[in-house]
Amino acid sequence: MIKYNLKCKNKHEFESWFSDSKEFEKLRQKKIIECTLCGTKNVQKSIMSPSILSKNQKVKNIQSARYLKKIRKDLLKMRNFIEKNFNYVGDNFPQEVRNIYYDKNKNKNIYGKATPEETEELREEGIELTTIPWIDNKKEN
Ligand SMILES: [Zn+2]
Repeated sequence: MIKYNLKCKNKHEFESWFSDSKEFEKLRQKKIIECTLCGTKNVQKSIMSPSILSKNQKVKNIQSARYLKKIRKDLLKMRNFIEKNFNYVGDNFPQEVRNIYYDKNKNKNIYGKATPEETEELREEGIELTTIPWIDNKKEN
């Protein structure tokens, strides 16, 4: 199961569970997903990353503290690597990506924020992006 944070065209935010991302897309396209506050069917995924919940035993083991700690360590390493080697452009990411992609003289590594819709648009233009889980490097748990 995946939990998505959703946002309607009137900027209401709410959460909903789906069996996977394909199910979400299917329901969204059929306009079955409704805003819980105003009832509009114009609903998008909001920027936050999905959480997982599983009743399957195998997957449950993966959720164990030890395993999560290891993943956390790997993600931290990845984060450090990116911070060292890439320039942060924040919310300007989609625009900066295009600037660099279409300008042969520019050769820069950047990272920043994009909504799922912006990421999808860039992919449609043929720009390959990688989305990575971004974890807080200040908290230790
Ligand atoms: Zn709404």
